[in-house]
Amino acid sequence: MPSAIVVGAGIFGASLARHLAGDGWRVSLVDKDRPGHDRGASGDASRLLRSAHGADYWYARSARRARELWRQLEEESGTRLFEEVGVAWLARSPDGWEAESERTLRDEGIPVERLEPDAGRELFPSFDPDGLEFVLVEPEAGVVRARSALLAMVDQAVGAGAQLVLGEAHPVGAAVELDGERRSADIVVWACGAWLAGLFPELVELRVTKQDILYFEAGDEWRTPPVPAWVDYEAAFYGHGSLDGRAVKLVSDAIGPPFDPDLAAEVSPESERATRAFAVTRFPSLAEAPLASGRVCPYALTADTNFIVAPHSEHESVWILGGGSGHGFKHGPALAEYVAGLFAGAEPDPMFALGPRGSGGGLRTASE
Ligand SMILES: Cc1cc2nc3c(=O)[nH]c(=O)nc-3n(C[C@H](O)[C@H](O)[C@H](O)COP(=O)(O)OP(=O)(O)OC[C@H]3O[C@@H](n4cnc5c(N)ncnc54)[C@H](O)[C@@H]3O)c2cc1C
Repeated sequence: MPSAIVVGAGIFGASLARHLAGDGWRVSLVDKDRPGHDRGASGDASRLLRSAHGADYWYARSARRARELWRQLEEESGTRLFEEVGVAWLARSPDGWEAESERTLRDEGIPVERLEPDAGRELFPSFDPDGLEFVLVEPEAGVVRARSALLAMVDQAVGAGAQLVLGEAHPVGAAVELDGERRSADIVVWACGAWLAGLFPELVELRVTKQDILYFEAGDEWRTPPVPAWVDYEAAFYGHGSLDGRAVKLVSDAIGPPFDPDLAAEVSPESERATRAFAVTRFPSLAEAPLASGRVCPYALTADTNFIVAPHSEHESVWILGGGSGHGFKHGPALAEYVAGLFAGAEPDPMFALGPRGSGGGLRTASE
C-alpha cells in the first residue's frame, strides 16, 4: 500500500488526502490548526464556482469537472454544499475576458447565455447597467458553502481511512518533522496555502496579501438563491446575495497589502469606502446598507495566477501544492484527481512549475 503525508488540511490538501485514501493509499493529513479555522483561505463561508476563465481551457475544464465532484461529495456527505444560482459576468468591453470566456465555454459545451445589460434588472433587486456591453450568465455556476465543503471533504478523507493529525510540521529533507519526530512516506505533499513561501523560501515565490471580505445587511429580496453570484472582472469586484442568512457579500478583488496570515487582522475602513463607491454605481440600494460583518482572508498569489503543482527540486518524493491565487477553492477535488495522476506517472504541466513566472495571468479578475 503506497503511503502519503499531506501537510495542510485546506481544500487543496484535504481533497488530495480524500482522493488518495479512496485509491487505497495510507494517508496522514496534517494541520497545525483545526480544519476550517479562520486564518486559512478555505475556512470562509462561501466561494464562487465558475467555469469561465477567459481563453483558458485547462481551468475551464477543471472547474467543470470539479462541479461534478462537488455534487458527488454532496451526495456522499448528505450535505447541501453547492447552490447553482448562476454567475453573472458584468462585461464592460465587447471583446474582453467575458467574450473570450463565452467562446471557450461554448467550445466545451458548457451552458452560457449572453444577455443585454438591462437584463441585470431581472437578476438583481437593484441594478444599474451603465457602462456594460452585455451580461454573460453561466447558469450552472454558483456558490459553494466553502467551510462546510471543506469539513465534508475532511470527513470523507477520514472515512476513507486517512488519519487526521494536529500539529505544526516542518520539512527536513524529504521527511516531515512533527512534534520533534521525523515521519516519512512514499510521497510527501506540502499544501500549506499562504504559509508555503515561509516553509520553502528558496523554492516558492508567493505574494501573501490581506484581503477584506464585507457583508452588508439587505432585505429578503437579496437572498441567494435566487439572486445569482456576479463578477465585474474589469472593475475587480464580485459577490453574491444573502446565503443562509449571512447578509450580502460584496468584495473588492484589489490586491491588498502584504500580510502575515498568523496575525489577527480587521477589515480596513478603506475597503468599506471602496466597496460602497462601487455599489453606488452598480447595486445602488446596497450603497448605504449597514455593514453586517467583515472578515480577513489571505491570498497566496503566484505572479501569473497559475497554481503551483510541482515536485521539490531536490527531493522527487516531495511535492508542493498551492498558489491558489484567490481562485483555487472550486478546483479542489478536480485538482486532487490531476495530482493523483501525476503520482501515477503523468507529466506535470510546466505552467504549474516552481521558479519564476510571467506576470498578469488575470485568472480571477483584472486586478493583477
Ligand atoms: C478573499 C478570498 C476570496 C476567494 N474567493 C474565491 C472564490 O470565489 N472561488 C474560488 O474558487 N477560490 C477563491 N479563493 C481562493 C481559495 O479560497 C484558495 O485558493 C483556497 O482556499 C486555497 O486552499 P489551500 O488548501 O491551498 O490553502 P488553505 O485553505 O489556506 O490551507 C492551508 C492549510 O495549511 C495549514 N498549514 C500551514 N502551514 C502548516 C504547517 N507548517 N504544518 C501544518 N499545517 C500547516 C494551515 O493551517 C491551513 O489549514 C478566495 C480566497 C480569498 C482569500
